[in-house]
Amino acid sequence: MNKEKMRKIMLEYQYRRDRHQDLLDERVGEIYKKYPNIKSISEEIRKMGLKMTKLVISGASEEDISNISRQQNELINRKNELFIENNIPLDYLELKYECENCKDTGFLENGKRCNCLRQRMLNDSYVMSNLEEILSMDNFENFNLDLFSDKVTEEITVSPRENMKTIFMDTQNYIFNFDKKEGSKKDNLLFSGDPGLGKTFLCSCIAKDLLDKGYTVIYQTAFNLMEVIERYKFKTETFSYLDEENYNNLFTCDLLIIDDLGTEMVNSFTASELFNIINSRLNARKKIIISTNLGLSEIRNSYTDRIVSRIVGNFQMYQFYGSDLRFK
Ligand SMILES: [Zn+2]
Repeated sequence: MNKEKMRKIMLEYQYRRDRHQDLLDERVGEIYKKYPNIKSISEEIRKMGLKMTKLVISGASEEDISNISRQQNELINRKNELFIENNIPLDYLELKYECENCKDTGFLENGKRCNCLRQRMLNDSYVMSNLEEILSMDNFENFNLDLFSDKVTEEITVSPRENMKTIFMDTQNYIFNFDKKEGSKKDNLLFSGDPGLGKTFLCSCIAKDLLDKGYTVIYQTAFNLMEVIERYKFKTETFSYLDEENYNNLFTCDLLIIDDLGTEMVNSFTASELFNIINSRLNARKKIIISTNLGLSEIRNSYTDRIVSRIVGNFQMYQFYGSDLRFK
């Protein structure tokens, strides 16, 4: 990552902290105006704090110091009571953070990059994946099982709704247990079925929830993925460090989501590269979700037996069926 880009990201973090400070100032103003007694008690508490500092500096006796400290605690308790009496959340006048882990600094106490910063750096590399746009629309709150038919027909013993319910519950479990690495089919999911049955929607819901939990997620259509690989491998004249970063991220992120496998142009090069990514991630126990309109035999035709056997052996497979939801 180059310095200029890092500087811009750090500025963003600065704005984020400033914005939350402004919001806090607003809340303080609002409460103090509405509840003058809270204002005066807050000022008392602050004065006590100053007094205590002075006493400590001037080498006052422990008794004097603990005396002030006790008075201050009494005031704090009284203040909390006032909050409760007036139905104000106790943390209402505390500074909020978008990321509690790093307090919006981007770095943890041990000096390491916080996950939010790692993801922010990924997002910057992945502007073309439109992750943010997708995430603003798709999330589990908008998930509606009623859109799926509850009819059972001769071909299917489980209704589309029932089927979707199972898939939904399993993905919730997947998110909940994301930290666990089973080294089994539970680690990786394959969503297969016709277009318009909610596969992409579900993928982005999973991405959103895991991002919120602080994991690094890369969401790419197979088409974009191939572009990332080609730019890295063929090093055209516009090749930059970004291309290298994009490529490396495919291997290192916590979750790689490949959407719409089968829509891209496949040749022996792309097929072997896809195998390389899937295989490396599986060996490193890094998780993958694939969505595809193809069935396994079609994947075998487009790609290779090697890929199919890795998928069969390591992915939990889900079949989506029903009628196209895109117009509902
Ligand atoms: Zn953070």
